[in-house]
Amino acid sequence: MNCQHCRNSLPDLLLDATAASSAATRAHLESCAACNEEFMALQATFDLLDEWHAPEPSPYFDQKLAVRLREEQAAPAAGWFERLRSRLLFNTGRQFRPALVTALAFVLVVGGGTIADLSGFPPRSHDQASAAINDLQILDKNEQALQTMDQLLQDDNPNDDGDASQSNI
Ligand SMILES: [Zn+2]
Repeated sequence: MNCQHCRNSLPDLLLDATAASSAATRAHLESCAACNEEFMALQATFDLLDEWHAPEPSPYFDQKLAVRLREEQAAPAAGWFERLRSRLLFNTGRQFRPALVTALAFVLVVGGGTIADLSGFPPRSHDQASAAINDLQILDKNEQALQTMDQLLQDDNPNDDGDASQSNI
């Protein structure tokens, strides 16, 4: 048994001393000071956890929680951004992902272009022609990014549809 194996099985030794790997782990601990030190530290941590007791909830916790829940339910609906965000964050469906990826790419490209433009040094002259050229260049970059995204999504899609069991995120 090497040190990596030994350290991986230290929790097993602490939680279940009769486990199959425990004998080999003990043998290694007797011959390896570094792992033994690690074991002592872990054991001290476990001892501390044994002393810790979860605090009792305050009186009327359930009643207060029920009141808070009713208040939240009665509160006005969140703004469209909050609703969209929670939908994108917690939606288990896959239908929003391509749109989300495209939107994020758009934000990156536009945001990156804007920041680069604002922080450009020396500052560019603010005449109409250069602004138009900048806009066209940004649009061109966006087009390229969207094409790349489309290709990526097309590459991904056969796997996505073929095997749904791999990703249950
Ligand atoms: Zn060791």
